[in-house]
Amino acid sequence: MSDQAHSLRTPIVAVLGHVDHGKTSLLDKIRGSAVSDGEAGAITQHIGATAVPLDTISEMAGSLVQPSDFDLPGLLFIDTPGHHSFSTLRARGGALADIAILVVDVNDGFQPQTEEAIDILQRTGTPFVVAANKVDTTPGWNPVEDSPIKPSYDGQSDAARSRLDENLYELIGQLSDRDFSADFYWRVQNFRNNIGVVPCSALTGEGVPDILAVLMGLSQRFMKAEMEIDVEGPGEGTVLEVKDQQGFGATLDVVVYDGIIREGDTIVVGASNEPIVTEVRALLQPRPNAEIRVEKQFEQVDSVGAAAGVKIAAPDLDNAIAGAPVRVVRDRPEEDVVEEVKAELAEIEVGTEEEGVVVKADTLGSLEAMANALQEAEIPILRAEVGDIAPRDVAVAGTAREAENKAILGFNVDVLPNAERELEQAEVRLFSDDVIYQLVEEYDEYVEEMKRSQQETILDKIIRPARFQILQDHTFRQSDPAVVGVEIMSGTVKNNANVAKFENNEPDRVGQLSGIQLQGDDVSEARAGQRVSLAIDGPTVGRQIEEGDELWIDLPEKHAKILEQELSDEIPADELEALSGYLNKRRKRDPFWGK
Ligand code: GDP
Repeated sequence: MSDQAHSLRTPIVAVLGHVDHGKTSLLDKIRGSAVSDGEAGAITQHIGATAVPLDTISEMAGSLVQPSDFDLPGLLFIDTPGHHSFSTLRARGGALADIAILVVDVNDGFQPQTEEAIDILQRTGTPFVVAANKVDTTPGWNPVEDSPIKPSYDGQSDAARSRLDENLYELIGQLSDRDFSADFYWRVQNFRNNIGVVPCSALTGEGVPDILAVLMGLSQRFMKAEMEIDVEGPGEGTVLEVKDQQGFGATLDVVVYDGIIREGDTIVVGASNEPIVTEVRALLQPRPNAEIRVEKQFEQVDSVGAAAGVKIAAPDLDNAIAGAPVRVVRDRPEEDVVEEVKAELAEIEVGTEEEGVVVKADTLGSLEAMANALQEAEIPILRAEVGDIAPRDVAVAGTAREAENKAILGFNVDVLPNAERELEQAEVRLFSDDVIYQLVEEYDEYVEEMKRSQQETILDKIIRPARFQILQDHTFRQSDPAVVGVEIMSGTVKNNANVAKFENNEPDRVGQLSGIQLQGDDVSEARAGQRVSLAIDGPTVGRQIEEGDELWIDLPEKHAKILEQELSDEIPADELEALSGYLNKRRKRDPFWGK
């Protein structure tokens, strides 16, 4: 056995895109036509992945892929259905997928999950091709089953082609808005700098040969160095999912991207607490010819070499987490491997605070993406974990002090049935989505709304500041009540409020408003700039008050404090001016008044 047996492994391909844009259909098409085109063994169904060998790709792609041009063994498509976030899966700090297909419905263009996928591809520097899917829905389209796209495209009527072009240029524009220079793939000279857009149909198969050709070309040209592995080296992989499997307990669905993993190997697996060190009991693969994606039928294999998907059965895997690294301990000390796994996990660790929301996500990678998004939105995190929403999460969220933080943000996770009950009872709000930025937006809107309604209730109950002046020759009644014409200088005068006057900085409550009239009509309030007549119970004009006097709405100290400290952003500028004028007067006597 040689440790130096190097070989090129299969590139790992992820298929990303918005829901319903055709990811599953495209994968099915690739698998289906591989199966119907080729002999037995045309594709290999792995756990969570499908391997398509070079010969089959070449057969499907016809003249577009000549096997003699390539020395990569084929392509491994990750195909976990509904697992939107596998694109965030990592391998040694980078993306697990070497290369990606971004599926976009030509009629629909960019949608939230398209944006999110682009973000991830950009951040991880993953090369990708855009599958502009569903070209067959273009009005007047004349399909050519399983054909490369160029002859099919050229053979369409001018009307059909220009309808499609319109959509394609829109898409190319949307890519360039995201700083990707893109073009029809047959016009792209340098795939390192430009994104190739392949018009295609997962339904008719048009353009699918081209997608395969671009993927092979991209991997062969730009990724080849990274595909070189030591085929006998210790296996390294990433957990796709932790699943209970009858007869085996908790098992790991893993994509192995380097080396080889054998039955009996000691492995180290990233977990929610300390890394797990355990021994591989069994390596399971779907039985050949088993129905695609029905994974009940397994066969046991002795070893699995990169790149491959495999189910690992081993003791003590319950705390393992999706997205975590798996490393084989071979020819090196176990502690070193544990340290490596710890270091890799630490890289993804999410900073938490004493007060904040609870975050749950389906994988480590998506948890990290969530944490980034929340940090950007300045939303603090109390706890962040991988896994479905459990009663414990509801309890933890309930301990948050601020009402707005009594919330759980779940990305791509389910609510366990007993947690659902707890949620109903506890005052904890659940936000759940499979698009990160929508999740953050929903939560933000909720907080805004909550603050708005809180402030509205407070503002409704609070006495508002105002300054006003009695006009000359505007005494309509001397007393019981005094009725005078005033001009509101600043603030809001509401009926029933108390009226104060400052003489030598000495505040003096002179009475209470018992009526406001604007141009002869009774009103409940008057605003700055208005001239109204006020009925004031208490004073007599000529004694406690005089024409020309400056009067104020008398504010209870507590109200003044709330206005100054909590609501100063909410009240209009002139009211704020009345408030500070009033506080100035008050604080001349007592500097700490209202503080
Ligand atoms: P996913 O959510 O991205 O996996 O999308 P699916 O593959 O489930 O496709 C969503 C719907 O679009 C299904 O009804 C498909 O049959 C349909 N669909 C997918 N690709 C095409 C295509 O190329 N042409 C047409 N006409 N329909 C398609």
